[in-house]
Formats: sequence, structure tokens, C-alpha cells
Amino acid sequence: SANVSHELKTPLSSISGFAELMKEGLVPPEKIPEFSGDIYKESLRLIGLVNDIIQLSRLDENSTQFQRAPVDLYDLGEAVIERLESVAAKQSVALHLTGEHAEILQLLKEMIYNLLDNAIKYNVPNGSATLSIHESGEHVILTVSDTGIGIPYAHQPRVFERFYRVDKSHSKEVGGTGLGLSIVKHAAAMHKARLELWSEPDAGTKITVHFDGQ
Ligand code: ADP
Repeated sequence: SANVSHELKTPLSSISGFAELMKEGLVPPEKIPEFSGDIYKESLRLIGLVNDIIQLSRLDENSTQFQRAPVDLYDLGEAVIERLESVAAKQSVALHLTGEHAEILQLLKEMIYNLLDNAIKYNVPNGSATLSIHESGEHVILTVSDTGIGIPYAHQPRVFERFYRVDKSHSKEVGGTGLGLSIVKHAAAMHKARLELWSEPDAGTKITVHFDGQ
């Protein structure tokens, strides 16, 4: 919770700092759009953080509330891709969905969303991000791969930790909270799924989720 408070305090301090300067009339009129833009950006960041924290605490609280309804991963993937299409287009990243329909129990949409969101955020212009779903017998495999900046080897064991970011300022710039992959990890654990990370700096990243015998 010390981490959380610190993460919340930073954007809040910026917001109150900018707002105070404006209130005191210390901002020249031509600078008002810039200052209000900063306030807006920081508040969006705060909302993103609070949403991620709410999601994580729901996961922390308990898994028993989850209904064990079967979910078609491919349909779910399609819905997430639809939501992220405009973000990807803005970044000139091509989004692909491959594979087939495969049912698993109660997978969180957030898991796919966070993985794909990262695959877009840490990509390069004209790069691509692919969500792929395959089923073989009892085994369902979901993979999100990208052609982005990759994760340096030394950081790879730690990226699933809460608030861990390779490059804090870059993550902040692209709207990261440092919580996305910890939500993925938590959700995977709840589904008894195994996570596998492959990444090569300047080449790309591939995260695979193995669902066994659901
Ligand atoms: P964030 O909100 O900062 O994206 P995450 O928990 O989702 O937080 O990811 C943690 C860190 O791992 C990110 O800050 C980024 O440095 C790195 N990372 C995650 N996914 C990717 C990816 N697909 N490509 C490159 N780096 C990534």
C-alpha cells in the first residue's frame, strides 16, 4: 500500500500544483491550454491507476466470486481487438487475430486486454501485434506477440511484479501504470494457467498463456 500511495500521490501532486498556479493567476493566458492539458493528462493517468488497483484488489479479495462459465477465447479476443483498434491505428501498429475458437472457463478479459495493450504501447511505428489462440485436446494456448522494443534480459524476471517498469518515464508517456502484467499474472494463477515470456530487445516480445485441462 506504500507503493500504491506513492503512485497515486505523484499525479495528484502535479494536478494540484498546476491548478494552484492557475488559481493564483500565475499562468499567462497563452499557457492556459498547456497547463490544462497537463492536468487532463495527469487525471487520466490517475483514473487508469485507480482502475488497475480496483481490478487487482478484486482479484486479491477472492477468486470464489468468479463464475465458472465457459468463455470462447477467440470471441473474447475479437471484442478486445475491436476496443484497441483505434489505439493501434494511432500508433501505426497493425493488429492481427489468428487461430480458432477455443473454450476455457472464466478467463478474464483484462488478461488479453493488458497483454495486447502492452504489445501496442511498446511497439514501433509500422510494427504489428498478434493475438493467437489454439486448442489441442485439453490444452488451450493463448499467445500475444509483438514486433516492438522488447524487454532487456536483466528486467525479464521482474516485469510481472507490481509497479515494476523497465523505463518509468517511457511507461508513463505511453499511459502505463506498472500494474498490467501483475493483473495478467494474478489472473493466470487463478486459472491455474502457466505464463511464459520470450523477449528480445529491439526485436519483440511474446507472452504465452498455457491453460491445461480446464
Ligand atoms: P505498464 O503499465 O508500465 O505497461 P506492465 O505491468 O504492463 O506495466 O508492464 C511492466 C513493464 O514491462 C512495462 O513498463 C514495460 O517496460 C515492460 N513491458 C511489458 N510488456 C512489454 C512488451 N510487450 N514489450 C516491451 N516491454 C514490455
